[in-house]
Amino acid sequence: MKTFDSAFENNVAGKARPEFLELDNHSSDVLIIGGGINGISIMRDLSLQGVKVTLIDAGDLISGASAASSHMIHGGIRYLENGEFRLVRESVQERNDLLRTAPHVVKPLRTAVPIFSLTAGILNAPLKFLNHGKSKGKAKRNERGALLIAIGLVIYESFSRVNGVMPRFSFYGAKRAAKEIPSLHSKVKYMATYFDASVHEPERLALDLVSDALATGNAKVVTYAKAVGTKFGGVIIEDALTKQTAITSADVVVNASGPLTDITNASLGRETQFMGGTKGSHIVVDHPQLYEELASRELFFENRDGRIVLIYPVKGRVLIGTTDIFADPRQPVVCTEEEVDYFFNLVEHILPGIKLDRSQIVFRFSGIRPLPKQDVSQPGFVSRDYKIDKGILPSSQKTPQFSVVGGKWTTFRALGEHVSDLVLAELGRSRKVSTLGLQIGGGKNYPASAQEVEEWIKENRATLGKTRTQALLARYGTAASKLIEFLELHGDTELDTLSGYSEQEISYLAIAEGAVRLDDLLLRRTTLAFSGLLNEERVQEIARVAAASLGWSAERTQGEVARAWELLQYRHGVQKAGGRIAI
Ligand SMILES: Cc1cc2nc3c(=O)[nH]c(=O)nc-3n(C[C@H](O)[C@H](O)[C@H](O)COP(=O)(O)OP(=O)(O)OC[C@H]3O[C@@H](n4cnc5c(N)ncnc54)[C@H](O)[C@@H]3O)c2cc1C
Repeated sequence: MKTFDSAFENNVAGKARPEFLELDNHSSDVLIIGGGINGISIMRDLSLQGVKVTLIDAGDLISGASAASSHMIHGGIRYLENGEFRLVRESVQERNDLLRTAPHVVKPLRTAVPIFSLTAGILNAPLKFLNHGKSKGKAKRNERGALLIAIGLVIYESFSRVNGVMPRFSFYGAKRAAKEIPSLHSKVKYMATYFDASVHEPERLALDLVSDALATGNAKVVTYAKAVGTKFGGVIIEDALTKQTAITSADVVVNASGPLTDITNASLGRETQFMGGTKGSHIVVDHPQLYEELASRELFFENRDGRIVLIYPVKGRVLIGTTDIFADPRQPVVCTEEEVDYFFNLVEHILPGIKLDRSQIVFRFSGIRPLPKQDVSQPGFVSRDYKIDKGILPSSQKTPQFSVVGGKWTTFRALGEHVSDLVLAELGRSRKVSTLGLQIGGGKNYPASAQEVEEWIKENRATLGKTRTQALLARYGTAASKLIEFLELHGDTELDTLSGYSEQEISYLAIAEGAVRLDDLLLRRTTLAFSGLLNEERVQEIARVAAASLGWSAERTQGEVARAWELLQYRHGVQKAGGRIAI
């Protein structure tokens, strides 16, 4: 099995990282294990309360389940079928909050549901609710017709209208549906349209939360630092790069390691069986006809097997997903050829006029949903809600240790607040600030109208010019103003191999956003890999800029490039010739 580390380890062995060494004998109020969206959210909330927090991640931030999402910020209308009303209500409220607090990355999403029948599923659905709690999860999925979907949408929107920020749902018939989407299946009888939201760049949202936490002066983040055990009442942490170890202590420990929560607990010396994750994959295709026909709307529909799947246009590409397969989190997951066939079949099922082939795939990705362990017959029935467990950190007498079980992107703020309240109670401290309604990173004072955009550009453009300033605003929100200051000082020389990015911008991302490895830049500080914009020359050039910024030797740089390609090719199906998969 590939590890991605082979080429790299030789180049860094023995070279200590100062930020890692600082962890040894370090003490903070709270240690968070895991820098996915949930660990980051907990850190942000606690640091705002004046609590000293240290967050570590075995890899980069947002490199686990958080890197594998469908990009939806949604209430999860389909969870109504499982009777998860609490979760749906909370999710809709969080969605509406994020539309206000992170408008630079979270945008309303017109969602269209093509439907083949009027009454299908209408008799079966109430039975599912009645059986809720008894044979829940053993039920068989049935087709969902227009009436059932209309009932679902009425309930869904009833959660939302209290603070309603979205237009209401609507229905129309086959004729209009076919006119709007010419490639649609001729047997589609109705089209429901409602509004949800999506996060165009999940990684940026998370990095903004990290910046906000660091700005409080109460947070410390060390990546490539893995919790491997406990000793003297503290946690043993291993540097994933150098294999050095450190022991860190805290008054409270939070295990937010997503699908690996049980595995992390086991390495700390505590056996738990909280998790029962399922694998989900996506492909990203470069298909201009499909992109245009979708006209910014997501298609959200029932596939032949009863699974709800999506086709979503983003960044000039189309994201297609997802699968839901019971999986072992110990094994690395990749999007398999069978899953690609499944995606092609679902497109053909709803859009027979669209022809897809493997040469159009520019990126694929896969992850394990951190779901609670449950006895259900189908992965789709597993609860998407989260819970928090409290235990005692092994090797300590009384250090409370919380484990986060579940938690979606959509609900990260609420989960962060919930865990933070539990931690504050342990510390005997009280909440000072609510994160509800609190603007995030580049969403702060984000211009709300074309006129405000013009004004922002005027104020911030410095010598960069209007087009470039506008592009940076679109990419980073109002946080672009800091980057612009940096570019003013250091120049803004466009990359030779890629327009729209400058050497100094890459340098800024590497330094200011804590990149440690080349793939941190390619996959998470930018969306170049996701968008299918990488090739051999571009990776080489970005590596050269990163090396100059982060002080890498020639040997280390070579190792980074080799590792990045191993990862890009094996995990994401990117080819050196130009971001496409070879057949
Ligand atoms: C296919 C798929 C589609 C999804 N779609 C959506 C969607 O559209 N909308 C939505 O709201 N949600 C969606 N989700 C759910 C959402 O992405 C996850 O629930 C969420 O990202 C989990 O975040 P997390 O922080 O709990 O876990 P993770 O992101 O996995 O973070 C855990 C981190 O812990 C680190 N770690 C593990 N062990 C250790 C250790 N021993 N020491 C240090 N660090 C450690 C890992 O490296 C990792 O970075 C989807 C998930 C998947 C898989």
